[in-house]
Amino acid sequence: MRTPIIAGNWKMNLHLEDAIALAKGVAKGTDGAQNVDVVVGPTFVCLAKVADALEGTHVGVAAQNMHTATSGAFTGELSPTMLKDAGCSYVILGHSERRQYFGETDRGVNEKAKVALAHGLTPIVCIGESLDEREAEKTMDKVSFQVAAALSGIGEEDVVKVVLAYEPIWAIGTGKTASPEQAQEVHAGIRALLADLYSDEIAQQIRIQYGGSVKPANIAELISQPDIDGALVGGASLKADSFSAIVNASAND
Ligand code: PEP
Repeated sequence: MRTPIIAGNWKMNLHLEDAIALAKGVAKGTDGAQNVDVVVGPTFVCLAKVADALEGTHVGVAAQNMHTATSGAFTGELSPTMLKDAGCSYVILGHSERRQYFGETDRGVNEKAKVALAHGLTPIVCIGESLDEREAEKTMDKVSFQVAAALSGIGEEDVVKVVLAYEPIWAIGTGKTASPEQAQEVHAGIRALLADLYSDEIAQQIRIQYGGSVKPANIAELISQPDIDGALVGGASLKADSFSAIVNASAND
């Protein structure tokens, strides 16, 4: 009953011409995919032109970050209304690279998620444990803390619009994927937490993506897990054929 959602995080890759070509390639390559939400996440400077290139297609556009204010003296930042002007309908928040290199905090992610929702942007909220945390058997503690913090103060009506992306940090860009069973275990734990925080009915509606070295060869097993509702894809989203293959394997037809 949850529509799978596959999002590509292009990170700081692709200049304009290549970004537009990739966006068009994704739209074409996933044209026949039914009942799957498809999203691409270009760099800020490419957002508007990529969104123009995708107009009239089924592919949505995500920003990779957002400021909470609508405008003001925040050098180098972009506001939710600016993202909407550029054609975004999603925003990726709290990616581990932003947490690690740019000081993104749980509280900041929570504020951004609330502002995104207030502006009609769908937040894709990233959470996940480090290798040390996994080895210390602290995965669920860490992920539960991040989920509860990110959703703090978000009511039932809004929380069902949030997409969570469980991305074990040790699996991002490393070629190491969590096994489908490892991923499912955490996704089920997150859904149980959502049931505690809200209700079982609400928890069943919230989509939880998996992220971490997802590729055409491993998506089928991951997406077949009962609590995995899609993928946030880095490296394999930079080629139209691999990203389209991931989308097409996730389509609910
Ligand atoms: C990501 O950056 O969100 C990600 C999952 O990257 P990769 O697919 O390259 O591991």
